[in-house]
Amino acid sequence: MAIDDRTRLNNGVDIPSVGLGVFRSHEGKETEQAVAWALEAGYRHIDTAKVYKNEKSVGAGLRASGVPRKEVFLTTKIWNDDMRDNRQLKSFEESLEKMGVEYIDLYLIHWPVANFLATWQILEEIHASGRAKAIGVSNFQIHHLDKLLPLVKVKPAVDQVELHPYLTQLPLRQYLAEKNIAIESWSPLGGQGGAILRDTEVAAIAASHHKSPAQVIIRWNLQNGIIVIPKSVHKERIVENANVYDFELTAAELARLNALNRDRRFGPDPENFNF
Ligand code: NAD
Repeated sequence: MAIDDRTRLNNGVDIPSVGLGVFRSHEGKETEQAVAWALEAGYRHIDTAKVYKNEKSVGAGLRASGVPRKEVFLTTKIWNDDMRDNRQLKSFEESLEKMGVEYIDLYLIHWPVANFLATWQILEEIHASGRAKAIGVSNFQIHHLDKLLPLVKVKPAVDQVELHPYLTQLPLRQYLAEKNIAIESWSPLGGQGGAILRDTEVAAIAASHHKSPAQVIIRWNLQNGIIVIPKSVHKERIVENANVYDFELTAAELARLNALNRDRRFGPDPENFNF
């Protein structure tokens, strides 16, 4: 089954709306296989980062799959220390080299470290060179974007943030919609703890559709126009997480899921991170 649902970014580039996340997926066989299984299952979007230390295996998995490079949307992210040490360009080139590719589809500022304005200008240069088809940010709050947007030549195409039914991020979503910046949800399934997948409301909705809690959450993202990058290294789950196009949540079910919001973060807070 091919995941052919795409979201058009503000620069005209299309991004597959469901991608495979590879945070905490180990370098080597684990990541290589996960990427190859995902591509075999129809995924065409992989989300990695320099700090995940698995860019090499993402590239190897891509090549092992036999799927042509140009059919796959690759995201990677610049790490905080490389921004602080002003080695942005070098870091980007290292990512290309590790993945063994000529270009990245989407290059993101991973966290809003202090010099994000200067870093953005370097991302704009990388974008102008054609080596990143789109550039964007991650973990940016409204106030970071208020600072950045008046100064950009190229508007960020996306903001990738923690987002799930316990953290629905409505004010940020409204802001990004007004600015025509796409939103991507990280830890869409609630990260490692599994609290959201065990939530009784999510489970009830899943049972009524004969789908899994994970599929319901992924569907909730898609029906809200949110790009979603669930992580798994298990073949069955990778396939399951892509199998979300044969059912639809009703307006009432979407409302029940929205009502689970409690502004609960499972990951670090962009207002207060120490890495
Ligand atoms: P997730 O919410 O996607 O997944 C959490 C866990 O759910 C997985 O570890 C897996 O054990 C389990 N799972 C997956 N599919 C399942 C299924 N069908 N049934 C039952 N359990 C299942 O967590 P995540 O990895 O934190 O986030 C997804 C991706 O987002 C990451 O891999 C990464 O690419 C990205 N991310 C980005 C940032 C950022 O700062 N930009 C931070 C965290 C994650």
